[in-house]
Amino acid sequence: MDRFWIGKQLDELTPRQWEVLCDGCGRCCLQKLKNPTTGKVYYTSVACLLLDIETCRCSNYELRHVMVPGCLKLEPENIRKLRWLPKTCAYRRVAEGKDLPAWHPLITGNPQSVHTAGCSIRHRAISEEHIHPDDLVNFQINEKF
Ligand code: SF4
Ligand code: SF4
Repeated sequence: MDRFWIGKQLDELTPRQWEVLCDGCGRCCLQKLKNPTTGKVYYTSVACLLLDIETCRCSNYELRHVMVPGCLKLEPENIRKLRWLPKTCAYRRVAEGKDLPAWHPLITGNPQSVHTAGCSIRHRAISEEHIHPDDLVNFQINEKF
């Protein structure tokens, strides 16, 4: 397997490499709460409307930024600034010069390994379509991704 990310900067990746680097954990698609005083970001167990909870993939990847205006586009330039990205996030890890975790699908060759390792939000999240926005605070999780 070509470990193409080793020793690379994110902006050196091809578009294809960029896409396959995502581990499919779905963690970044969980709704977040921001403390207005400290600016600290907290995750909730509520997933974006477009997230398929079973596959942990966006159900309309092509139109995601149109359908969900708050969906942030991840780019080589902004990864380091997004301190709320999970520590496991492949983009964050490569930006920090780290290798991918042993369960990453690019390492295992198995797209399911992110789920079997318990590192995705499969079976752990609820879609925001079932939640009133005012109730979001009740779904805050203390888990540190
Ligand atoms: S947290 Fe990172 S690796 Fe996981 S789904 Fe989001 S972008 Fe992909
Ligand atoms: S629109 Fe898709 S990629 Fe963006 S946060 Fe929602 S599920 Fe994730």
